[in-house]
Amino acid sequence: MKIVEKLRVEPGRRIKLRHVAADATPGVKDKAEAVEDLAQMLPELRKLQYRLYAENRRSVLVVLQAMDAGGKDGVVRHVFSGLNPQGCRVTAFKAPSTSELDHDFLWRVHRAVPPYGEIGVFNRSHYEDVLIVRVHELVPKDVWRRRYAQINAFERYLAETGVTMLKFLLHISRGEQTRRLLDRVEDPERNWKLSPADAEERKYWDDYRRAYEDVLHECSTPDAPWYVIPSDHKWYRNWAIARVLLAHLRDMRLQFPEPLADPDSLRRLLRGGSAGGGPKKHGA
Ligand code: ATP
Ligand code: MG
Repeated sequence: MKIVEKLRVEPGRRIKLRHVAADATPGVKDKAEAVEDLAQMLPELRKLQYRLYAENRRSVLVVLQAMDAGGKDGVVRHVFSGLNPQGCRVTAFKAPSTSELDHDFLWRVHRAVPPYGEIGVFNRSHYEDVLIVRVHELVPKDVWRRRYAQINAFERYLAETGVTMLKFLLHISRGEQTRRLLDRVEDPERNWKLSPADAEERKYWDDYRRAYEDVLHECSTPDAPWYVIPSDHKWYRNWAIARVLLAHLRDMRLQFPEPLADPDSLRRLLRGGSAGGGPKKHGA
């Protein structure tokens, strides 16, 4: 089985995250190979991004979700910073502001969907509305239960209107989260990343796991598949995401559009010869 299919959650499948090894590294031999292969993928990713931009009819939306310290920022730094910033935008979703709460939960998300020609990355997303919102009972159960279907309808609409969507769960183990949070405690240059919520949210680890399992079960669709990326090894996480992104960009068969101007007549004009008539007179 190809690695991309192996990481994808088949629609309707129920996954037990406890049984998915967060330190697995399927599809690649070791760190050296992954780092080397990632470096080789970046030029092709850039080439395809350039075509996407030129074509200007479709966009790509990458959703990153993870437990705290799961590595969303790392993915942005290591995979997406290799792309042309003109044509790639990152949006981070924090707890909604009061004005955002005055709208339906998808409102702020829809506004951030990348325009045609661009790649957008969501650092957290509308899935928070069935994750933290569910775990902390921020809305009644009958409200968040309906959101899976609402999300699927929204994502299907995006797919039908030219948005290719890939959703990644960066799957880390509890032990790895402990190590990373401890690093943040010990490293003065990373203290700033700590939030009081980090310790608090760990108490809800099992609740989050169940909420994630339901997300994967309810919302991995052919239009907008979920991928579970074993992410204890940062090098594996970066490699796997680049692989999946590259596979999707290749599948899109991106084409340069027909030039608006005729290259032959422009060439003649620029080289000083006759351009063949010049602008046509009206009514001629
Ligand atoms: P880092 O991983 O670097 O700490 P972060 O994405 O956790 O970055 P924070 O500012 O620490 O950024 O946290 C943002 C918080 O906003 C998260 O706890 C997230 O669950 C919360 N949040 C996002 N969307 C919603 C939402 N729709 N409703 C309630 N809370 C939300
Ligand atoms: Mg945080």
